[in-house]
Amino acid sequence: MATLAEHHDLVVLGGGPGGYAAALYGAAAGLEVAVVEEDRIGGVCLHRGCIPAKALLQTAEVLRTVAGAKALGVDAGQPSLDLATAQTRKQQVVDRLTRGLEGLLKGRSVTVVRGTGTVADAAARRVRVSDGTELAGDALVLAAGSSPGRSPASTSTASGSCRPTTSSSSRRCPGAW
Ligand SMILES: Cc1cc2nc3c(=O)[nH]c(=O)nc-3n(C[C@H](O)[C@H](O)[C@H](O)COP(=O)(O)OP(=O)(O)OC[C@H]3O[C@@H](n4cnc5c(N)ncnc54)[C@H](O)[C@@H]3O)c2cc1C
Repeated sequence: MATLAEHHDLVVLGGGPGGYAAALYGAAAGLEVAVVEEDRIGGVCLHRGCIPAKALLQTAEVLRTVAGAKALGVDAGQPSLDLATAQTRKQQVVDRLTRGLEGLLKGRSVTVVRGTGTVADAAARRVRVSDGTELAGDALVLAAGSSPGRSPASTSTASGSCRPTTSSSSRRCPGAW
């Protein structure tokens, strides 16, 4: 028996920068929008990419500035890195921006559906969510992102390389791999 699908003007599969931007633009244009996201809204950029990287780079910049301060006539002693504190601060930045993004979507009445979505019927623009819910849209945007592959030409070994998406939450300094 066919499940009755919830109907929306626009259904977006994936709540990363591609998906949430499409949802926000759609909602601003007056569309009734649903976003299906299996993780936290914000995607790689907000949780493992751009934002965590910039937060950690700011720590590195301060460390370098303090380490070189003596040459500028400021003796601040020899700085040391507390990576756990840097990671905690990074997570606070990520969490604050995530709450802001969730608020933005809520403010535009975008429905966020938690779960893994699959395209059940592309022609009918139907998405089935892991909890059994079905959504149908007048339009469907696929914004599920991508995943890194390993080049056959790569000579790096598993123990000698790391993925940027996991290193942004590492408790070990680069070079310790
Ligand atoms: C370390 C690092 C630093 C970066 N720095 C920058 C930068 O400074 N500037 C910049 O422009 N870009 C940067 N990027 C790239 C940026 O993160 C990506 O371009 C961006 O996240 C792509 O957005 P997206 O929406 O296409 O995909 P994603 O961010 O991957 O989002 C896809 C979303 O879809 C969800 N999803 C996937 N499949 C399903 C499914 N079946 N059901 C439900 N949900 C699903 C995922 O959980 C995810 O939330 C960086 C990337 C990395 C790794």
